[in-house]
Amino acid sequence: MKLPVSEFTYFLRGEARKNLKILIAYVLFLTLMILFYAQLFVLLMAVLEDNHYSFATGIYWTVVTMSTLGYGDYVFTTDFGHLFSALVTFSGVIFMLILLPFGMISLFLAPWIEQRLRYRPHSMLAEDYRNHIIIFGYDTITRALIRKLVSHNTPYVVVCIDPNQAYKLEEEGLNVVVGSPTNVHFLKNIQVAQARHIIANLTDPLNTNICLTVRSFSDTPIATLVDESDRSDLLRLAGANRAIPLKRILGSYLASRATTMGATAHILDAFGKLLIAEMPVKSTPFVGQTLAQAQIRQQTGLAVIGLWERGTFTVPEASSLLSPKALMVLAGTREQLQSLEMFAEEQEGADRIMVLGHGRIGCSAASYLERRGIPFVLIDQKNNPDCMDHITVIGDATTHNLLQESGIEEAKGLIVTTNDDSTNIFLTLASRRHRPHMRIVARSNNEENVEQLYAAGADFVVSNASVGANILNNVLEGKESIFLTEGIDVFRTQLPTTLVGMTIAESQIRPKTGCSIVALEPPDSSDPIVSPPPETVLKEGYGLILIGSPDEEEDFSRRFRSAL
Ligand code: AMP
Ligand code: ZN
Repeated sequence: MKLPVSEFTYFLRGEARKNLKILIAYVLFLTLMILFYAQLFVLLMAVLEDNHYSFATGIYWTVVTMSTLGYGDYVFTTDFGHLFSALVTFSGVIFMLILLPFGMISLFLAPWIEQRLRYRPHSMLAEDYRNHIIIFGYDTITRALIRKLVSHNTPYVVVCIDPNQAYKLEEEGLNVVVGSPTNVHFLKNIQVAQARHIIANLTDPLNTNICLTVRSFSDTPIATLVDESDRSDLLRLAGANRAIPLKRILGSYLASRATTMGATAHILDAFGKLLIAEMPVKSTPFVGQTLAQAQIRQQTGLAVIGLWERGTFTVPEASSLLSPKALMVLAGTREQLQSLEMFAEEQEGADRIMVLGHGRIGCSAASYLERRGIPFVLIDQKNNPDCMDHITVIGDATTHNLLQESGIEEAKGLIVTTNDDSTNIFLTLASRRHRPHMRIVARSNNEENVEQLYAAGADFVVSNASVGANILNNVLEGKESIFLTEGIDVFRTQLPTTLVGMTIAESQIRPKTGCSIVALEPPDSSDPIVSPPPETVLKEGYGLILIGSPDEEEDFSRRFRSAL
């Protein structure tokens, strides 16, 4: 029977762990017995036969005799010697050939086989089970999401098609059911109709099928990830409430951070007319100035709500320095962004980006660059069968000289986006060593590798798992919020009625909750008031757009719950 590595953990838990201790004690006892007989052998040989052998020979003779191999190279010739040999052989048969294998089988093998045979995966949930999140498809994104759900005590269940996968996940402590995601009977058995939300994270066709099947009997909200963004409509047509083109989002994130050209801001998301966008400091004339000196708000009306530098996000102060490597996170209307773009200078010389990995995310990054007229070179070890638009240099990016031959010397930015984190770390480190000043943006498939990628020299790391899990979590919590980075959200809320008529300074929102006001949304759908000064009066019906950590956001809603 094949014994995967993960099965070994079985022997380190519960009853098996206790049995392992018994086995170790037994082996110790057997070793002592062998040492004792070996010493006796040396002694008896000397006394009875006048032969002088070493202790090592004694051990050899004892093992050969106990295991009944009996080569006959060292033999006793006296009666007492024969009796001693018989005793050692007899002990060997009992303790080595019978009890040892018997113990191994009864203490380990039999309970392990029994447990595997006894394992019956759940294929239904109790009838009164409700308000749970049903997750189809387990990967690094849903794993990160489950961690969030567990920390909020939100009930969830992962649906597995393969019982072996279910067994493995259950061993890891996850809530799992096994069944076909498109079988109505099974879906009813896992109480889909009473669930709070469904997350469909399988292939686009399977997700479509799940939506249609669920909609045939229930209106539980469904959020689905979609591989090809042009299929979002199709999934919505099939019944999905949200279709999230995560790969496209990730590709644009990577590409927008790898270039300073085009001098256009990369729009992350929007709350009505208020856009949240990113723009590299390098493409503006403000390099080297403090935020106060740059006067961006006075000149354009935009609020700088964050600064990204080498993987660190900070909420800026007037004295914050705008370094050439930093990326500004801006809030404002489209016109305000355009007025900043007018300031932005074309960079000297053409930007040129190298993209390592032409899978879905790499392809989406390439499309982003293409739309902005930024030249790029794509490298992948194989052709992307879903892409007819881009020419790819075929080869393993880690092979010596391939990057040099493909023109890494001329590239100003590098996007590292293979599906293997070790490869990404290696490529980042090698490129950083070769080109200390290049902009390197890397993708991290597992959350655990974000730190290593920064350590390897990446300027920005975009984690699939974090971005995906945060987007899904916001959908589940019905939050209108934009994920900027782990621990920082921009979110929208109504003005608490208790604050109507106060000025921003009097409202004490920032000192009390830690959240800062990014903009106010007047009720008459006129332009948002971006970064309002402290003396602004909060009027009835205003919408608030705030920035803060999830804890601060929770603090805000707890404090003003009754007034919202
Ligand atoms: P996706 O996860 O869809 O973005 O795909 C990742 C892409 O990275 C695939 O197309 C892989 O062929 C590619 N890839 C993985 N390792 C390497 C490598 N060492 N060199 C070049 N491309 C790679
Ligand atoms: Zn492509």
